[in-house]
Order: sequence, then C-alpha cells, then structure tokens
Amino acid sequence: MPTRPRCPVCGTPGPRRIVYGLVLAEVLDDPGVAIGGCVVASNAPRWRCRNSTCEHEYGRAGDR
Ligand SMILES: [Zn+2]
Repeated sequence: MPTRPRCPVCGTPGPRRIVYGLVLAEVLDDPGVAIGGCVVASNAPRWRCRNSTCEHEYGRAGDR
C-alpha cells in the first residue's frame, strides 16, 4: 500500500485514491477510491481530499 499523504490544504488524513481509465465494479464500491475519469493526464493528481468541503486534489508528479 502506498502512503496516503494528508491534505496540504486542510490537513485531513487518509485521502481517497483517484482512479483513472477503466474502472472495475469492485473499485466503484470502494469508499477509499475516487473516480478521475477516462483521460489520464500526465500530471494528474493521485489523491482527493476526503473532506467534503475541501476536495482538494493533490499528489501530482511534480508535487512534494
Ligand atoms: Zn483538504
């Protein structure tokens, strides 16, 4: 399991992993996963904040 860094904006830990491309039904049922769409951008964010008032997306390749 990769480390899930806390949100750099609000500090909420345990972000949802954003899944791109073909998504399996079992992934759709996983509350720890967010759907990012079919197009995979080269610098697409990896994490989405679990805080519903924040929903910041982060973890891009260039981020630290
Ligand atoms: Zn956040």
